[in-house]
Amino acid sequence: MTRDPRYDILFDPLKIGPVTTRNRFYQVPHCTGMGHLRPRTLAAMRGVKAQGGWGVICTEYNSIHPSSDDLPGVSASLWDDSDIRAHSAMTDMVHEHGSLAGAELWVSGARSANLYTREVPMDVTSMPNAVGHPFQTRAMDKTDIRNLRRWHRKAALRARDAGFDIVYVYATHGYLLANFLDPRANTRSDEYGGSLENRVRLVRELIEETKDAVGDRCGVAVRFKADETIGADGAPEYGERHEMFEMLAELPDLWDINIADYSLEMGVSRFTQEGSLEPYMSWVKSRTTKPVVTVGRYTSPDAMVGLIKRGVADLIGAARPSIADPYLPKKVEEGRLEDIRECIGCNICYSGDSTGTPIRCTQNPTMGEEWRKGWHPEKAPAQGSDGQVLIVGAGPAGLEAARALGARGYNVMLSEATRELGGRVTREASLPGMSAYIRVRDYRVGQLDKMPHVEVFRESRLTAQDVFDVGADHVGIATGATWRRDRFDGKAYVSVAAEGVPVLTPDDIMDGTLPDGPTVVFDGDNYYMASVIAERIRQTGVHVTYVTEEDSVSAWAGMTSERWRIRSRLIELGIEIVTAHSLSTFDGAAATLACSYSGKTQEIAATNAVLVTQRQQNDTLYREILDRVEGDATRLHFTLRRIGDCDAPAIVAAAVYAGHRFAMETDAEIDIDVPLKHDRVDVGALPPSKLGVATPAYLETLQLYYEEEIAGEAYFLALAARVDTPEAAAHLRLLAEVERHCAAIVAPLLAKHGLTPRPTPLLVDEGRADADKGPQTYKEMIAYMRMTFPAYIDDFERLESLAPAEDLAVLKRMTEHEVVAIEFLEREASGAANSAEPLSRFLSTPVGTLGAA
Ligand code: ADP
Ligand code: SF4
Repeated sequence: MTRDPRYDILFDPLKIGPVTTRNRFYQVPHCTGMGHLRPRTLAAMRGVKAQGGWGVICTEYNSIHPSSDDLPGVSASLWDDSDIRAHSAMTDMVHEHGSLAGAELWVSGARSANLYTREVPMDVTSMPNAVGHPFQTRAMDKTDIRNLRRWHRKAALRARDAGFDIVYVYATHGYLLANFLDPRANTRSDEYGGSLENRVRLVRELIEETKDAVGDRCGVAVRFKADETIGADGAPEYGERHEMFEMLAELPDLWDINIADYSLEMGVSRFTQEGSLEPYMSWVKSRTTKPVVTVGRYTSPDAMVGLIKRGVADLIGAARPSIADPYLPKKVEEGRLEDIRECIGCNICYSGDSTGTPIRCTQNPTMGEEWRKGWHPEKAPAQGSDGQVLIVGAGPAGLEAARALGARGYNVMLSEATRELGGRVTREASLPGMSAYIRVRDYRVGQLDKMPHVEVFRESRLTAQDVFDVGADHVGIATGATWRRDRFDGKAYVSVAAEGVPVLTPDDIMDGTLPDGPTVVFDGDNYYMASVIAERIRQTGVHVTYVTEEDSVSAWAGMTSERWRIRSRLIELGIEIVTAHSLSTFDGAAATLACSYSGKTQEIAATNAVLVTQRQQNDTLYREILDRVEGDATRLHFTLRRIGDCDAPAIVAAAVYAGHRFAMETDAEIDIDVPLKHDRVDVGALPPSKLGVATPAYLETLQLYYEEEIAGEAYFLALAARVDTPEAAAHLRLLAEVERHCAAIVAPLLAKHGLTPRPTPLLVDEGRADADKGPQTYKEMIAYMRMTFPAYIDDFERLESLAPAEDLAVLKRMTEHEVVAIEFLEREASGAANSAEPLSRFLSTPVGTLGAA
């Protein structure tokens, strides 16, 4: 297929300063939870986007210096040369496919507390940390500003050396540079504060200095917001933005424009639609001749073309659409629009940043798995056998399993109990604001339609007998989960309803059973569902009270950056909100709520209660199949696995991932002890000893200690000849024997390493000479040995630490001979009866060979 000429404009190259992008698909900087911690994972992920046709691919926020540290949020970094090497892995992959790589230089300010580096955070003034840490910033003085400019310049040079083609000055999103521009935040009285010109000074200097440093090789981009703030009515207020922009308009090579309201810019589909930033952008292009990029969760090429044709932007910025479909540009280019995997605007990708873990995506299960699992969004490994696969249940897990298996070439039967495919996403998409979730189903059903070897059976609820009758080689049970009518109290599931009083669940609401009177919606799930259910019920006009044990509404939705919008929506709708309370009982007329802190109870009038708590796996079919073979899966004629919510209820992204994983692991040899590659800081090469290499230092010491055993034998025999009781002489002769035995144990190591000890007569002379200088009486001898022997243990252990692993067993026996000698000395000093027992014990052990040692 070829490209529709309507979209040609999206493939026009464009100059960005000294570099040229091959097309208008521009992946703006976006967080990944990988950054400086997981460079290989990151490089592979960005590389796949270049393969998929994105003309420009940027890093996430990229710290220029330890004074900008966001851990546990994982930024990238450009602190030193090791960062250059780490970034090179990404830029190489991006260049390999003809794309440009961009680095967003980031200066934090009050949004970071520098918890890892412990550098004092700095900002335009001394202000509290913007994300709630009990740290305040230092107001930057002239030296700080000078240092910042130098760090920025150095980071820009490192970015260039790492192979980046575009370098950013990042002057928005509430970070330090945005605060310098801000008329309210910047209350400085020096040349960096006060007048507009003064407030713009630092950003201007950084743009000029970045151009000066790397402008011959790299385009310099500025990230800047179009409006000053969000007005009381939600409308943008532009303040001085136009004048400010005009002062800088021609300085950079590219403008990357966003807006003040991050919850709109990063808005979830429940509250914001495609292109929601466009109204803010209308003025930008008329005030600069430089290219402009902006975002808006664009997945439709028509909307993209419109944006360019209307003169709003020159490049289509995308983070989420590129995450959901790294091949979006290629699909437009090849005229395969129906293959585009459209972002559903759920912001699960953003939750990786919030939790400091690698990015994942609801629509694209391969996102973040490119390196460690070798998964690819468009290329599937060929089938591992001619086996037939049966998938039971066509929710997100079952659909993705069938799709990915089909892509691998397997013959697949997908059986769904109902008429509708899609499982939970089809049901949830009918709830207010949730329609975009249907894309999870539609993309997959669209792909399955093109696969004649995947048969889909609707209205086919399978029993265990059916599964056996089908005779497939592999069976995946993806039968989902059902919302429970009780709640988990931290230890166990407990009922809240009085005997015989019904309570509702989200499944009832989605099935069309709606409450007819005042309703309490209890949120024990803390993601989006309870708020959506409350909104749905409120649409019918009944009074709704939303109750959660957490301190905030939809607490986990803070991870997806939608918690604030959700709460505003509930307030707007007149839904009453009770936080930090659990639902204790419900009797059909009232609900009793208990305070999470004090336990104090209160009653609210409610004739209906909806429990949005946990879900129960629908795994009956799975268990019935196993029951037929007394739970012994090895007796089945097919492989059997549960996938998705039927295995363990979780978010939609987890079900899609589970389906994909099932498909990838079918007929594959997976080592479940090491199921994935591990991207982490490499501490460098192992010492030679750990690699089994005998170093000169080791060999020298080994020979020396062996020789000391030979000399030791002569030493103890000389002492034995000097003492006046037969008993003392016997003990010293035993010590001599221990030395000989030890030498015999170690001798094979010398032979193995080709070491030749000095001649025995020489060593015997040394031992005797030592004895001559030694203590005279037996008592003095024991005291002297007790004092000196413990240090030998340290010496032997040091030798062990130098040794190749295969020598260790022998060396530990050498150490042991000193341990028993000390044990003997202690017993002897305390007058114990059987003091020589440790020595005899050692002597009774065989000399052994190297293998048996
Ligand atoms: P997941 O999120 O794990 O994909 P869902 O609950 O969304 O789970 O989907 C499960 C699907 O399985 C539903 O569409 C449901 O109708 C279907 N299903 C449940 N039991 C059976 C069965 N015995 N045979 C066929 N389909 C089933
Ligand atoms: Fe879009 Fe959700 Fe994927 Fe993010 S996780 S890219 S919002 S589908």
